[in-house]
Amino acid sequence: MCVFSSMSDMLIQLKDYSQIELEDWVKTQGEKAFRGRQLFQWIWQKGVGEFSEMTNLSKSLIQNLEQNCSLGLSTVHQVQTSETQGTSKFLIRLNDGKFIETVLIPEGKRVTVCLSSQVGCALDCDFCATGKMGLKRNLSSGEIVDQLLHARRFSDRPITNIVFMGMGEPFHNYNQVIKAANILNAELGFAHGARKITISTSGLVPQIRQFTEEGHRYKLAVSLNASDDYSRTKLMPINQKWNIADLVAACQEYTKTSSNMLTFEYVLMDGVNDNLGDARRLTQIANQVFCKVNVIPYNEVAENYKRPSNNRINNFLEALKGARFGVTVRWSQGDDIDAACGQLSTAVQDES
Ligand code: SF4
Repeated sequence: MCVFSSMSDMLIQLKDYSQIELEDWVKTQGEKAFRGRQLFQWIWQKGVGEFSEMTNLSKSLIQNLEQNCSLGLSTVHQVQTSETQGTSKFLIRLNDGKFIETVLIPEGKRVTVCLSSQVGCALDCDFCATGKMGLKRNLSSGEIVDQLLHARRFSDRPITNIVFMGMGEPFHNYNQVIKAANILNAELGFAHGARKITISTSGLVPQIRQFTEEGHRYKLAVSLNASDDYSRTKLMPINQKWNIADLVAACQEYTKTSSNMLTFEYVLMDGVNDNLGDARRLTQIANQVFCKVNVIPYNEVAENYKRPSNNRINNFLEALKGARFGVTVRWSQGDDIDAACGQLSTAVQDES
């Protein structure tokens, strides 16, 4: 084990600070609070990489920042772009040598960025590549938001939607994810509308309740993926802790309190959760909640799961017709570069 910290460990990572924290920090340096707001704006809205580019700060403050602070949290190690779909996957290296993945998805008028919230994931969903890595660590809010900065620099069109659906369970890293979403939403940050930011969860009931109580305006998506407890526990071990009935109750509380519609994600797998009985039970579950259902035909990463034929997919969708909720189908983008839902994994690249 290394006894000495590297130089970068000793520097203050300003990207991990919220706007208020930056205002407080500059005050400890003898500056006025508005300098913190300027700093926040330079870091995120203008996305500069060097303190010397922050032209409205005083020379003495810039000198202080250069000596004691850092803006270097992560770097883009590799970008792969799908030739057929235009989706790009970024392999991002963190300061401790660990890697995460971020995906940029241009689709019609929308340009969506899919952010990771953890290195790996502890929840071990049976069909998911990230789950196979286990959890390495949580990301800081700065490491989460930095992903958007990288994607924004690369994209030739403005980002319209942000989803927390990359590596990790966002609600397992609740505080940092909410802090990151607040930076994305902040006027001097990315000024990204709250309704264009979606946080996804595999069904952590206490955090869904916390999210409800705190009254966040970000959209909520819940991965359901099965229509009965036996199948769901097999696919998603978290169901042993909070089963479908617990989840539905928490979702009902959320939609009633917030008046916001929720999205149930349903990854459709051949012979696992795609028969007409599943469609009927899914209808009964989703009818209890103010929601829409997003059906995602599986992108094959695990040997024991397959994508259903188009015929089976269409039969399943047909069986959902007439339900009270809306249904959308996400024909995932980027499966040729392993950037589609459930395919993100950086196990082999971990240098730490
Ligand atoms: S599906 Fe989501 S919650 Fe489940 S293991 Fe994968 S990243 Fe984690």
